[in-house]
Order: sequence, then structure tokens, then C-alpha cells
Amino acid sequence: MTSIAANLQAVRARVSTACSAAGRETESVQLLAVSKTWPAESVREAVAAGQFAFGENYVQEAIEKITDLAKQGPGPDLEWHFIGPLQSNKTRLVAEKFSWVHSVDRLIIAQRLAAQRPHYVAPLQVCIQVNVSGETSKSGCTVDQVFRLAHSVAELPGLRLRGLMAIPEPSEDRDLQRSRFAMLRQTLEQLNGEGLALDTLSMGMSHDLEAAIMEGSTIVRVGTAIFGVRA
Ligand SMILES: *Cc1c(COP(=O)(O)O)cnc(C)c1O
Repeated sequence: MTSIAANLQAVRARVSTACSAAGRETESVQLLAVSKTWPAESVREAVAAGQFAFGENYVQEAIEKITDLAKQGPGPDLEWHFIGPLQSNKTRLVAEKFSWVHSVDRLIIAQRLAAQRPHYVAPLQVCIQVNVSGETSKSGCTVDQVFRLAHSVAELPGLRLRGLMAIPEPSEDRDLQRSRFAMLRQTLEQLNGEGLALDTLSMGMSHDLEAAIMEGSTIVRVGTAIFGVRA
């Protein structure tokens, strides 16, 4: 077994143990393998080990990898998720090449993605990124802004608003981790109380996926624990 295959097995076991501890079905949490900075060859190793959903942060790097993997010929369909900061001049490639975007944090980005999503493919699945750590983090809209933004994004053609994403500040404190994730879950519940039908909480990474699953995560985004420490 390659080390990526072994790491994947270990991460799947962590997800499954965390789900049991939370009284949840293992199938209720999707594992997204974050392959940013790693070559197409690493993605291929993960695919061979049964992983089909990948997260990328940098548009140019991602497009090269997506193109390279598509050249392989018939194989399993891969699902690409864009999870990094998105500038408005880079939205077209994301709208054309990805299935999901987790990092929408302002309306102009959502509007551009909606206008640029080709109509012959499924709607782009979207999460709004929320800053749940206050001043200590710069990316994501604020908890105050998310309500208006979510209702506006939900109206756009070509997109399907699925839920919320957060990257809390790194912390070893399990209670603090859980309180950040709980804030995202409560925000989602509030939005659903206002008539939206959101089913996705994209939260939890290599160091805090257990706390995220306890608070209802439905997608964990894991890089280091699968591919190793990035250069
Ligand atoms: C890099 C990254 C991850 C993966 O983080 P690890 O700590 O390597 O698991 C998850 N989400 C986002 C948005 C990232 O940029």
C-alpha cells in the first residue's frame, strides 16, 4: 500500500470513529481530499485508493491538474471543489471546471460565477465562507453579513446554494474548536428557519475534524493527514 492509501485509510477511520462518537452515520460526512501543492501523481494515488473528491485552492494549479487527470481516458468521474480565496478575474475558469465552490464571501463573486456557469452542465454547488473567528481571520464574510448574502446567492441562476464553510483559527483547544463550528451550525439553522434549504456544513480539517463532526460537519476538507506536510 502507498503512504497516501494508508493515510486515507487512517483518515476514513478517524471520520468513522468521530461519527460513532457523535451518534451519526459515517455516510453523512463526505471526505474531501485537499490536494493543493501536490502533483497530479499524488491525486492518481488517492484515486487508486478510492478517493474521488478533491479540493484545490489555486486556480491555475488546479486547472493543470484537472486537465492532466482528464487525459487519462475513461476512469472514475472526479469531483473538483474550489476552496481557496477567489478573485473576480479568476471566476470564469472556476465556473467552467469545478463542481463546487466553498469560498464565496461576497455577492460580486457569486454573480460572476452564476453568469459564467455553462448552461449545459449541472448548477455550481456553492457554500458561503463565514469568518467565525472574528478579528483573527480575514477570509469569509461576517456572521452579520451572511444572512443577506445567502438570500441573494440563493436567487442566482446557475448556482445552487448548499450551505456554509468556515476555517476557524488553528487551536488545540477542543472546546474552542467546537464553539466555532457550533456557531457555523447555528447560523445554518437560522438560515433554514428563514426559508432556505441548506444541507451542507463544510468544516473540519486535519487537526480538528473530530470537533467539526461533533458539531454537524457534512464535508471535512483534509490535506496534510492524507498527502503529508506541504512544503
Ligand atoms: C489547505 C486547506 C485545507 C486542508 O488543511 P489541512 O490542515 O492540510 O488538512 C482545508 N481547507 C482549506 C480551505 C484549505 O485551504
